[in-house]
Amino acid sequence: GFNCGIVGLPNVGKSTLFNALTKSGIDAENFPFCTIEPNTGIVPMPDPRLDALAAIIKPEKVIPTTMEFVDIAGLVAGASKGEGLGNQFLANIRETDAIAHVVRCFEDDNVIHVDNRVDPKGDIETINIELALADLDTVERAIQRLTRVAKGGDKEAIATRSVLERMQPHLAEGQPLRSLKLDDNERQLIKGYGFLTLKPTMYIANVNEDGFDNNPHLDTVHTIAEEEGAVVVPVCNKLEAEIAELEDEERALFLDEMGMSEPGLDRVIRAGYGLLGLQTYFTAGPKEVRAWTIPIGATAPQAAGVIHTDFQKGFIRAEVVSYEDFVHYQGESGAKEAGRWRLEGKDYVVSDGDVVHFRFNV
Ligand code: GDP
Repeated sequence: GFNCGIVGLPNVGKSTLFNALTKSGIDAENFPFCTIEPNTGIVPMPDPRLDALAAIIKPEKVIPTTMEFVDIAGLVAGASKGEGLGNQFLANIRETDAIAHVVRCFEDDNVIHVDNRVDPKGDIETINIELALADLDTVERAIQRLTRVAKGGDKEAIATRSVLERMQPHLAEGQPLRSLKLDDNERQLIKGYGFLTLKPTMYIANVNEDGFDNNPHLDTVHTIAEEEGAVVVPVCNKLEAEIAELEDEERALFLDEMGMSEPGLDRVIRAGYGLLGLQTYFTAGPKEVRAWTIPIGATAPQAAGVIHTDFQKGFIRAEVVSYEDFVHYQGESGAKEAGRWRLEGKDYVVSDGDVVHFRFNV
């Protein structure tokens, strides 16, 4: 599966967010093969389409697709120099696919700030500098190694080294690599290094209940994100933690009272999904209606492989109805009669929302 690491300075609301995410989480028993560490939460992707499909098919089970969140606490200034278990935290971040960087944008005299002030720009810099310095360390080691290899005239080593040399001063200034222009070829050359500041990143601006509008702290985060090409999700983590405690009915009432169409967490989860370039397709039968996650651009056999590698190996054809047609014609047979049912081959690129039935050899 794909995962998103939650980082940020101490006391900005990371645990509050993580707890809210995991409270709204699904039973681990649905996913018997996942071992869940205490700092890892598997969170269902909110998707109203799943309910619409279930209403037509009335299956025994409805299974959402999921996103994993990892609480990476304890990133502090000096982490890249090994302060406060720094290396351990950086290693944890290296294993994630995307980063959710929580930034404090709320004033509250009862909550101590590590530097005694609410300063999103300073906070973002502190974290980004640690990540950039960790990447700088990687770059410098790699340059040393490649210099030895390049002596033999290895073209790829020479090309890679020149990309790294361009990255070095940028990182030394504490700038993230995502703000450096790299073409596809350059990206390919450095892919294996797992640079932290190249990971898709979103800023979670943690605001107070009344802090969504006219909040200069939030404006600051927007400005920084725009410069870097990062995403911002404003959310009130404290409120989300309260919402996550409620039963379904109470929750609907509460959201209604607050004038919210969905919990803010849903935006966080969806943003994580979007950040990773992921999309959803469905399988729909009387036993279960289920959502599956695939990268945008995945072909039908690749999509089949998410269910089981045998489905990919033995792939013959995919029977496909788009989500819209499935709902409009009230199921597969209706869609078939209307000529909206398709048989697709191995080169078919699956679309978001496709309802698919795979034919395969075993
Ligand atoms: P962490 O160290 O980043 O994990 O921060 P915590 O989640 O433990 O939060 C630190 C303190 O800030 C706790 O007392 C939270 O209740 C409080 N807090 C978190 N989010 C908000 C918020 O949106 N508004 C306010 N006023 N307090 C918050």
